[in-house]
Amino acid sequence: SRIEYVDVVIIGAGPSGAIAASLLHKQQKKVVVIEKQQFPRFSIGESLLPHCMSFIEEAGMLDAVNKAGFQFKNGAAFQYQKQHRTFDFTQKFSQGHGTTFQVQRGSFDKLLADTASEQGVEIRYGHSVLNVKLEPTTSVIVTEPQGTEYTIRTKYILDASGFGRVLPKLLDLEVPSDLPPRTAIFTHVYDHISDSDFDRDKILISVHPQHQDIWYWLIPFNDGRCSVGVVAEPNLIEHIKGDDEQRLLELISQEPSLKRLLRNATIAQECSHIRGYSANVKTLATKKFALLGNAGEFLDPVFSSGVTIAMKSASLAAKVLLRQLNGEDIDWKKEYSQPLMFGVNTFRIYVQAWYDVSFQKVIFTKNPDPKVKQMVCSILAGYAWDKTNPFVADAEKRLSTLVQLCELQEQKEMQS
Ligand code: FAD
Repeated sequence: SRIEYVDVVIIGAGPSGAIAASLLHKQQKKVVVIEKQQFPRFSIGESLLPHCMSFIEEAGMLDAVNKAGFQFKNGAAFQYQKQHRTFDFTQKFSQGHGTTFQVQRGSFDKLLADTASEQGVEIRYGHSVLNVKLEPTTSVIVTEPQGTEYTIRTKYILDASGFGRVLPKLLDLEVPSDLPPRTAIFTHVYDHISDSDFDRDKILISVHPQHQDIWYWLIPFNDGRCSVGVVAEPNLIEHIKGDDEQRLLELISQEPSLKRLLRNATIAQECSHIRGYSANVKTLATKKFALLGNAGEFLDPVFSSGVTIAMKSASLAAKVLLRQLNGEDIDWKKEYSQPLMFGVNTFRIYVQAWYDVSFQKVIFTKNPDPKVKQMVCSILAGYAWDKTNPFVADAEKRLSTLVQLCELQEQKEMQS
Protein backbone atom coordinates (compact mmCIF):
# COMPACT_ATOMS: atom_id res chain seq x y z
CA SER A 1 0.00 0.00 0.00
CA ARG A 2 0.90 3.68 -0.43
CA ILE A 3 3.55 5.26 1.86
CA GLU A 4 3.88 9.00 2.52
CA TYR A 5 6.51 10.97 4.46
CA VAL A 6 5.83 14.00 6.70
CA ASP A 7 7.39 15.70 9.73
CA VAL A 8 4.33 15.50 11.98
CA VAL A 9 1.02 13.63 11.91
CA ILE A 10 -1.74 15.24 13.96
CA ILE A 11 -4.71 13.06 14.88
CA GLY A 12 -7.90 15.18 15.07
CA ALA A 13 -8.78 18.68 13.84
CA GLY A 14 -10.47 20.00 17.01
CA PRO A 15 -9.07 23.08 18.80
CA SER A 16 -5.84 21.42 19.96
CA GLY A 17 -5.14 19.83 16.56
CA ALA A 18 -5.87 23.01 14.59
CA ILE A 19 -3.71 25.23 16.81
CA ALA A 20 -0.77 22.80 16.87
CA ALA A 21 -0.95 22.34 13.08
CA SER A 22 -0.95 26.08 12.48
CA LEU A 23 2.04 26.71 14.77
CA LEU A 24 4.15 23.95 13.20
CA HIS A 25 3.20 24.85 9.63
CA LYS A 26 4.28 28.46 10.26
CA GLN A 27 7.76 27.14 11.03
CA GLN A 28 7.89 25.34 7.66
CA LYS A 29 7.26 21.86 9.06
CA LYS A 30 5.37 19.39 6.89
CA VAL A 31 2.24 18.58 8.84
CA VAL A 32 -0.81 16.52 7.98
CA VAL A 33 -4.00 16.47 10.07
CA ILE A 34 -6.10 13.29 9.95
CA GLU A 35 -9.71 13.97 10.98
CA LYS A 36 -12.23 11.15 11.18
CA GLN A 37 -15.36 13.26 10.75
CA GLN A 38 -16.62 15.91 8.32
CA PHE A 39 -16.83 19.45 9.75
CA PRO A 40 -18.95 21.02 11.11
CA ARG A 41 -19.59 18.33 13.72
CA PHE A 42 -21.10 18.65 17.20
CA SER A 43 -18.80 18.83 20.19
CA ILE A 44 -19.53 19.59 23.82
CA GLY A 45 -17.57 22.43 25.50
CA GLU A 46 -19.10 25.71 24.42
CA SER A 47 -17.98 28.28 26.96
CA LEU A 48 -14.43 29.47 26.37
CA LEU A 49 -12.07 31.17 28.85
CA PRO A 50 -10.20 34.43 28.09
CA HIS A 51 -6.80 32.74 28.41
CA CYS A 52 -7.51 30.61 25.33
CA MET A 53 -7.55 33.81 23.25
CA SER A 54 -3.74 34.01 23.72
CA PHE A 55 -3.29 30.71 21.87
CA ILE A 56 -5.77 31.68 19.15
CA GLU A 57 -3.73 34.86 18.73
CA GLU A 58 -0.43 32.95 18.65
CA ALA A 59 -1.82 30.82 15.81
CA GLY A 60 -2.81 33.94 13.84
CA MET A 61 -6.53 33.19 14.18
CA LEU A 62 -7.66 36.05 16.44
CA ASP A 63 -9.08 38.22 13.65
CA ALA A 64 -11.10 35.36 12.22
CA VAL A 65 -12.51 34.49 15.66
CA ASN A 66 -13.26 38.12 16.59
CA LYS A 67 -15.08 38.69 13.30
CA ALA A 68 -17.17 35.53 13.38
CA GLY A 69 -19.99 37.05 15.44
CA PHE A 70 -19.92 34.58 18.32
CA GLN A 71 -21.64 35.49 21.61
CA PHE A 72 -19.35 37.80 23.60
CA LYS A 73 -18.36 36.54 27.07
CA ASN A 74 -16.88 38.60 29.89
CA GLY A 75 -17.43 36.50 32.97
CA ALA A 76 -19.23 33.90 35.00
CA ALA A 77 -22.31 34.11 37.22
CA PHE A 78 -23.08 31.67 40.02
CA GLN A 79 -26.35 31.07 41.81
CA TYR A 80 -27.25 29.00 44.84
CA GLN A 81 -30.56 29.28 46.64
CA LYS A 82 -31.16 33.05 46.86
CA GLN A 83 -27.53 34.02 46.35
CA HIS A 84 -26.23 35.33 43.06
CA ARG A 85 -22.57 36.31 42.45
CA THR A 86 -20.80 37.49 39.32
CA PHE A 87 -17.14 37.47 38.30
CA ASP A 88 -16.08 39.99 35.69
CA PHE A 89 -13.07 38.51 33.89
CA THR A 90 -11.74 41.94 32.95
CA GLN A 91 -11.23 42.51 36.71
CA LYS A 92 -8.61 39.79 36.95
CA PHE A 93 -5.18 39.76 38.51
CA SER A 94 -3.22 38.21 35.60
CA GLN A 95 -2.10 39.95 32.42
CA GLY A 96 -3.78 38.95 29.18
CA HIS A 97 -7.15 38.82 27.45
CA GLY A 98 -10.13 39.51 29.70
CA THR A 99 -12.97 38.52 27.40
CA THR A 100 -13.82 35.66 25.08
CA PHE A 101 -16.84 33.97 23.46
CA GLN A 102 -19.55 31.37 23.91
CA VAL A 103 -19.59 29.24 20.80
CA GLN A 104 -21.45 26.45 19.11
CA ARG A 105 -18.49 24.15 18.69
CA GLY A 106 -19.54 22.90 15.28
CA SER A 107 -18.94 26.33 13.75
CA PHE A 108 -16.10 27.38 16.09
CA ASP A 109 -14.01 24.26 15.45
CA LYS A 110 -14.70 24.54 11.72
CA LEU A 111 -13.54 28.16 11.76
CA LEU A 112 -10.24 27.25 13.45
CA ALA A 113 -9.69 24.31 11.09
CA ASP A 114 -10.56 26.39 8.00
CA THR A 115 -8.22 29.16 9.14
CA ALA A 116 -5.42 26.63 9.55
CA SER A 117 -6.21 25.33 6.03
CA GLU A 118 -6.06 28.87 4.63
CA GLN A 119 -2.65 29.21 6.25
CA GLY A 120 -1.63 26.13 4.24
CA VAL A 121 -2.21 23.22 6.64
CA GLU A 122 -3.47 20.02 5.00
CA ILE A 123 -6.48 18.48 6.78
CA ARG A 124 -7.87 15.17 5.51
CA TYR A 125 -11.52 14.90 6.57
CA GLY A 126 -13.13 11.50 6.64
CA HIS A 127 -9.74 9.84 7.15
CA SER A 128 -9.34 7.86 10.34
CA VAL A 129 -6.26 6.74 12.25
CA LEU A 130 -6.47 2.98 12.63
CA ASN A 131 -3.13 2.04 14.10
CA VAL A 132 0.36 3.30 14.88
CA LYS A 133 3.78 1.71 14.98
CA LEU A 134 6.58 3.41 16.91
CA GLU A 135 9.48 1.08 16.05
CA PRO A 136 11.76 1.01 14.10
CA THR A 137 10.33 4.12 12.43
CA THR A 138 7.16 5.86 13.51
CA SER A 139 4.27 5.03 11.17
CA VAL A 140 0.59 5.85 11.23
CA ILE A 141 -1.91 3.60 9.45
CA VAL A 142 -4.83 5.58 8.07
CA THR A 143 -8.10 4.53 6.39
CA GLU A 144 -9.54 6.66 3.62
CA PRO A 145 -13.31 7.29 3.37
CA GLN A 146 -13.55 4.43 0.81
CA GLY A 147 -11.85 2.10 3.26
CA THR A 148 -8.43 1.91 1.56
CA GLU A 149 -5.50 1.91 3.98
CA TYR A 150 -2.26 3.82 3.62
CA THR A 151 0.79 4.48 5.76
CA ILE A 152 2.39 7.76 6.79
CA ARG A 153 5.99 7.66 8.02
CA THR A 154 6.53 10.53 10.39
CA LYS A 155 9.06 12.02 12.79
CA TYR A 156 6.41 12.66 15.42
CA ILE A 157 2.73 12.10 16.29
CA LEU A 158 0.54 14.62 18.09
CA ASP A 159 -2.63 12.98 19.34
CA ALA A 160 -5.38 15.61 19.38
CA SER A 161 -8.22 13.07 19.11
CA GLY A 162 -10.14 14.30 22.18
CA PHE A 163 -12.40 11.70 23.76
CA GLY A 164 -11.38 9.40 20.85
CA ARG A 165 -8.14 8.97 22.87
CA VAL A 166 -6.48 7.17 19.96
CA LEU A 167 -2.93 6.74 21.33
CA PRO A 168 -3.94 6.08 24.96
CA LYS A 169 -6.05 3.17 23.65
CA LEU A 170 -3.58 1.85 21.05
CA LEU A 171 -0.53 2.14 23.33
CA ASP A 172 -2.29 1.09 26.53
CA LEU A 173 -1.63 4.38 28.32
CA GLU A 174 -5.00 4.78 30.03
CA VAL A 175 -5.32 4.93 33.82
CA PRO A 176 -8.47 5.72 35.79
CA SER A 177 -9.06 9.34 36.78
CA ASP A 178 -8.66 10.31 40.43
CA LEU A 179 -12.03 12.11 40.25
CA PRO A 180 -15.25 10.13 40.88
CA PRO A 181 -17.33 9.41 37.75
CA ARG A 182 -19.98 11.97 36.89
CA THR A 183 -22.66 12.16 34.22
CA ALA A 184 -23.67 15.22 32.23
CA ILE A 185 -27.04 15.53 30.45
CA PHE A 186 -27.34 18.44 28.03
CA THR A 187 -29.14 20.00 25.10
CA HIS A 188 -29.66 23.28 23.26
CA VAL A 189 -32.88 25.25 23.85
CA TYR A 190 -34.57 28.27 22.29
CA ASP A 191 -34.42 30.06 25.60
CA HIS A 192 -36.97 32.93 25.15
CA ILE A 193 -35.46 34.54 28.25
CA SER A 194 -36.84 38.05 28.66
CA ASP A 195 -35.72 38.74 32.27
CA SER A 196 -33.95 42.08 32.12
CA ASP A 197 -31.37 41.06 34.75
CA PHE A 198 -30.24 38.01 32.77
CA ASP A 199 -26.74 38.67 31.40
CA ARG A 200 -26.10 36.85 28.11
CA ASP A 201 -22.41 37.81 28.31
CA LYS A 202 -21.80 35.35 31.15
CA ILE A 203 -22.04 31.62 31.67
CA LEU A 204 -24.50 30.91 34.49
CA ILE A 205 -23.57 28.11 36.88
CA SER A 206 -26.43 27.15 39.21
CA VAL A 207 -26.07 24.89 42.22
CA HIS A 208 -28.82 22.45 43.17
CA PRO A 209 -30.53 23.82 46.31
CA GLN A 210 -30.27 20.54 48.27
CA HIS A 211 -27.40 18.60 46.64
CA GLN A 212 -24.52 21.04 46.36
CA ASP A 213 -22.47 18.68 44.20
CA ILE A 214 -25.11 18.83 41.46
CA TRP A 215 -24.75 21.86 39.22
CA TYR A 216 -26.14 23.22 35.96
CA TRP A 217 -24.66 25.26 33.14
CA LEU A 218 -26.54 27.79 31.04
CA ILE A 219 -24.47 29.13 28.14
CA PRO A 220 -26.22 31.73 25.98
CA PHE A 221 -25.41 31.90 22.25
CA ASN A 222 -25.94 34.81 19.85
CA ASP A 223 -28.97 33.27 18.13
CA GLY A 224 -31.62 33.05 20.84
CA ARG A 225 -30.41 29.67 21.95
CA CYS A 226 -28.65 28.47 25.07
CA SER A 227 -26.73 25.34 25.87
CA VAL A 228 -28.09 23.89 29.09
CA GLY A 229 -26.78 20.93 31.02
CA VAL A 230 -26.62 19.31 34.42
CA VAL A 231 -23.77 17.40 36.06
CA ALA A 232 -24.28 14.85 38.84
CA GLU A 233 -23.02 11.53 40.13
CA PRO A 234 -24.55 8.72 38.04
CA ASN A 235 -26.61 7.19 40.88
CA LEU A 236 -28.37 10.53 41.48
CA ILE A 237 -29.36 10.74 37.82
CA GLU A 238 -30.23 7.10 37.27
CA HIS A 239 -32.90 6.95 39.95
CA ILE A 240 -34.86 9.63 38.05
CA LYS A 241 -37.33 7.92 35.69
CA GLY A 242 -37.33 8.46 31.94
CA ASP A 243 -34.96 9.33 29.12
CA ASP A 244 -32.32 12.06 28.97
CA GLU A 245 -34.89 14.78 28.26
CA GLN A 246 -37.20 13.79 31.13
CA ARG A 247 -34.26 13.58 33.52
CA LEU A 248 -32.85 16.93 32.45
CA LEU A 249 -36.24 18.64 32.75
CA GLU A 250 -36.87 17.05 36.16
CA LEU A 251 -33.50 18.25 37.47
CA ILE A 252 -34.04 21.75 36.08
CA SER A 253 -37.43 21.88 37.80
CA GLN A 254 -35.64 21.21 41.13
CA GLU A 255 -33.68 24.49 40.87
CA PRO A 256 -36.27 27.29 41.22
CA SER A 257 -34.30 30.19 39.66
CA LEU A 258 -33.22 28.17 36.64
CA LYS A 259 -36.74 26.79 36.27
CA ARG A 260 -38.11 30.34 36.28
CA LEU A 261 -35.47 31.56 33.81
CA LEU A 262 -36.27 28.73 31.38
CA ARG A 263 -40.04 28.83 31.83
CA ASN A 264 -40.67 29.64 28.13
CA ALA A 265 -37.82 27.60 26.70
CA THR A 266 -38.32 24.95 24.04
CA ILE A 267 -35.91 22.16 23.15
CA ALA A 268 -33.84 22.87 20.01
CA GLN A 269 -31.81 19.69 19.82
CA GLU A 270 -32.12 16.12 21.06
CA CYS A 271 -30.86 15.72 24.65
CA SER A 272 -27.83 13.54 25.14
CA HIS A 273 -25.58 12.48 27.96
CA ILE A 274 -21.96 11.64 28.53
CA ARG A 275 -20.75 9.72 31.56
CA GLY A 276 -17.43 8.97 33.17
CA TYR A 277 -15.68 11.57 31.00
CA SER A 278 -12.79 12.28 33.39
CA ALA A 279 -9.68 10.51 32.13
CA ASN A 280 -6.00 10.18 32.82
CA VAL A 281 -2.87 8.61 31.28
CA LYS A 282 0.45 7.05 32.34
CA THR A 283 2.57 9.10 29.98
CA LEU A 284 1.75 12.38 28.26
CA ALA A 285 4.72 12.52 25.90
CA THR A 286 7.89 10.80 24.70
CA LYS A 287 10.39 11.50 21.93
CA LYS A 288 7.90 9.92 19.50
CA PHE A 289 4.48 11.27 20.47
CA ALA A 290 2.62 13.73 22.67
CA LEU A 291 -0.99 13.75 23.82
CA LEU A 292 -2.81 17.07 23.50
CA GLY A 293 -6.05 18.27 25.11
CA ASN A 294 -8.58 15.63 25.99
CA ALA A 295 -6.50 12.85 24.48
CA GLY A 296 -4.33 13.34 27.57
CA GLU A 297 -6.16 14.27 30.72
CA PHE A 298 -9.70 15.55 31.13
CA LEU A 299 -10.71 16.86 34.54
CA ASP A 300 -14.20 18.22 34.81
CA PRO A 301 -16.37 20.75 33.00
CA VAL A 302 -17.24 22.99 35.98
CA PHE A 303 -14.81 25.82 35.20
CA SER A 304 -14.98 25.46 31.38
CA SER A 305 -11.24 24.82 31.29
CA GLY A 306 -11.20 22.07 28.61
CA VAL A 307 -10.56 24.10 25.45
CA THR A 308 -8.06 26.34 27.25
CA ILE A 309 -6.06 23.32 28.48
CA ALA A 310 -6.31 21.79 24.97
CA MET A 311 -4.91 24.95 23.35
CA LYS A 312 -2.24 25.43 26.01
CA SER A 313 -1.07 21.85 25.38
CA ALA A 314 -0.95 22.52 21.63
CA SER A 315 1.10 25.68 22.08
CA LEU A 316 3.55 24.06 24.52
CA ALA A 317 3.97 20.87 22.47
CA ALA A 318 4.49 22.75 19.20
CA LYS A 319 7.32 24.84 20.70
CA VAL A 320 9.09 21.84 22.22
CA LEU A 321 8.59 19.74 19.07
CA LEU A 322 10.09 22.46 16.86
CA ARG A 323 13.25 22.31 18.95
CA GLN A 324 13.38 18.51 18.64
CA LEU A 325 12.83 18.66 14.87
CA ASN A 326 15.67 21.18 14.71
CA GLY A 327 17.99 18.65 16.34
CA GLU A 328 17.79 19.36 20.08
CA ASP A 329 17.61 16.50 22.56
CA ILE A 330 14.35 17.03 24.46
CA ASP A 331 13.30 15.76 27.88
CA TRP A 332 9.54 15.68 27.17
CA LYS A 333 8.58 15.11 30.77
CA LYS A 334 10.45 18.17 31.94
CA GLU A 335 9.71 20.40 28.98
CA TYR A 336 6.10 19.42 28.21
CA SER A 337 4.31 17.19 30.72
CA GLN A 338 5.36 18.99 33.89
CA PRO A 339 4.71 22.56 32.71
CA LEU A 340 1.33 21.51 31.27
CA MET A 341 0.31 19.59 34.37
CA PHE A 342 1.19 22.52 36.61
CA GLY A 343 -1.88 24.40 35.38
CA VAL A 344 -4.04 21.28 35.10
CA ASN A 345 -3.23 20.54 38.75
CA THR A 346 -4.15 24.10 39.73
CA PHE A 347 -7.56 23.57 38.13
CA ARG A 348 -7.79 20.16 39.84
CA ILE A 349 -7.44 21.76 43.30
CA TYR A 350 -10.31 24.16 42.58
CA VAL A 351 -12.44 21.44 40.96
CA GLN A 352 -12.05 19.19 44.01
CA ALA A 353 -12.83 22.12 46.30
CA TRP A 354 -15.92 22.89 44.22
CA TYR A 355 -17.31 19.40 44.84
CA ASP A 356 -16.38 19.29 48.56
CA VAL A 357 -18.16 22.69 48.52
CA SER A 358 -15.32 24.61 50.22
CA PHE A 359 -14.67 26.63 47.04
CA GLN A 360 -18.41 27.30 46.75
CA LYS A 361 -18.11 29.16 50.08
CA VAL A 362 -15.49 31.40 48.47
CA ILE A 363 -17.62 31.96 45.36
CA PHE A 364 -20.73 32.86 47.36
CA THR A 365 -19.08 34.88 50.14
CA LYS A 366 -20.78 38.25 50.62
CA ASN A 367 -18.01 40.80 50.92
CA PRO A 368 -14.87 39.43 49.32
CA ASP A 369 -11.59 41.29 49.59
CA PRO A 370 -11.29 42.98 46.14
CA LYS A 371 -7.65 41.94 45.62
CA VAL A 372 -8.43 38.32 46.52
CA LYS A 373 -11.44 38.36 44.23
CA GLN A 374 -9.19 39.46 41.33
CA MET A 375 -6.85 36.54 42.00
CA VAL A 376 -9.72 34.04 42.12
CA CYS A 377 -11.13 35.67 38.99
CA SER A 378 -7.84 35.00 37.19
CA ILE A 379 -8.20 31.28 37.76
CA LEU A 380 -11.82 31.35 36.58
CA ALA A 381 -10.57 33.19 33.45
CA GLY A 382 -8.15 30.31 32.77
CA TYR A 383 -4.84 31.77 33.97
CA ALA A 384 -3.94 28.64 35.94
CA TRP A 385 -0.26 28.76 34.89
CA ASP A 386 0.40 32.29 36.16
CA LYS A 387 2.76 31.75 39.08
CA THR A 388 2.71 35.45 39.98
CA ASN A 389 -0.80 34.74 41.31
CA PRO A 390 -0.47 33.43 44.90
CA PHE A 391 -3.72 31.46 44.40
CA VAL A 392 -1.89 29.61 41.61
CA ALA A 393 1.64 29.40 43.04
CA ASP A 394 0.44 28.23 46.44
CA ALA A 395 -3.08 27.13 45.53
CA GLU A 396 -3.84 24.56 48.22
CA LYS A 397 -2.64 26.64 51.17
CA ARG A 398 -4.07 29.94 49.95
CA LEU A 399 -7.41 28.36 49.18
CA SER A 400 -7.70 26.66 52.56
CA THR A 401 -6.91 29.92 54.42
CA LEU A 402 -9.45 31.76 52.30
CA VAL A 403 -12.11 29.12 52.97
CA GLN A 404 -11.52 29.54 56.73
CA LEU A 405 -11.90 33.31 56.44
CA CYS A 406 -15.15 32.91 54.51
CA GLU A 407 -16.45 30.50 57.15
CA LEU A 408 -15.59 32.95 59.94
CA GLN A 409 -17.37 35.75 58.13
CA GLU A 410 -20.40 33.51 57.62
CA GLN A 411 -20.51 32.75 61.38
CA LYS A 412 -20.23 36.44 62.26
CA GLU A 413 -23.13 37.27 59.96
CA MET A 414 -25.27 34.56 61.51
CA GLN A 415 -24.56 35.88 65.01
CA SER A 416 -25.36 39.50 64.19
P1 FAD B 1 -11.93 17.56 20.31
O1 FAD B 1 -12.46 18.90 20.15
O2 FAD B 1 -12.81 16.52 20.93
O3 FAD B 1 -11.48 17.04 18.86
C1 FAD B 1 -11.02 15.72 18.63
C2 FAD B 1 -11.17 15.38 17.15
O4 FAD B 1 -10.48 14.14 16.89
C3 FAD B 1 -12.62 15.16 16.75
O5 FAD B 1 -12.97 16.03 15.70
C4 FAD B 1 -12.65 13.67 16.31
O6 FAD B 1 -13.52 13.44 15.21
C5 FAD B 1 -11.20 13.41 15.94
N1 FAD B 1 -10.84 11.98 16.06
C6 FAD B 1 -11.17 11.10 17.05
N2 FAD B 1 -10.70 9.86 16.78
C7 FAD B 1 -10.04 9.95 15.60
C8 FAD B 1 -9.32 9.02 14.78
N3 FAD B 1 -9.21 7.71 15.11
N4 FAD B 1 -8.77 9.45 13.62
C9 FAD B 1 -8.88 10.75 13.24
N5 FAD B 1 -9.56 11.68 13.98
C10 FAD B 1 -10.12 11.29 15.13
N6 FAD B 1 -14.50 22.84 27.59
C11 FAD B 1 -14.55 24.18 27.59
O7 FAD B 1 -13.55 24.82 27.27
N7 FAD B 1 -15.69 24.86 27.95
C12 FAD B 1 -16.81 24.21 28.35
O8 FAD B 1 -17.83 24.84 28.66
C13 FAD B 1 -16.77 22.78 28.41
N8 FAD B 1 -17.86 22.07 28.80
C14 FAD B 1 -17.80 20.70 28.81
C15 FAD B 1 -18.91 19.96 29.26
C16 FAD B 1 -18.86 18.57 29.34
C17 FAD B 1 -20.03 17.80 29.86
C18 FAD B 1 -17.67 17.89 28.93
C19 FAD B 1 -17.59 16.40 29.00
C20 FAD B 1 -16.58 18.62 28.46
C21 FAD B 1 -16.62 20.01 28.40
N9 FAD B 1 -15.53 20.76 27.95
C22 FAD B 1 -15.58 22.13 27.98
C23 FAD B 1 -14.30 20.11 27.48
C24 FAD B 1 -14.18 20.14 25.95
O9 FAD B 1 -15.22 19.43 25.38
C25 FAD B 1 -12.87 19.54 25.52
O10 FAD B 1 -11.87 19.81 26.42
C26 FAD B 1 -12.37 20.01 24.15
O11 FAD B 1 -13.33 19.74 23.17
C27 FAD B 1 -11.06 19.32 23.82
O12 FAD B 1 -10.61 19.64 22.54
P2 FAD B 1 -9.64 18.68 21.76
O13 FAD B 1 -9.01 19.49 20.70
O14 FAD B 1 -8.76 17.98 22.72
O15 FAD B 1 -10.57 17.53 21.16
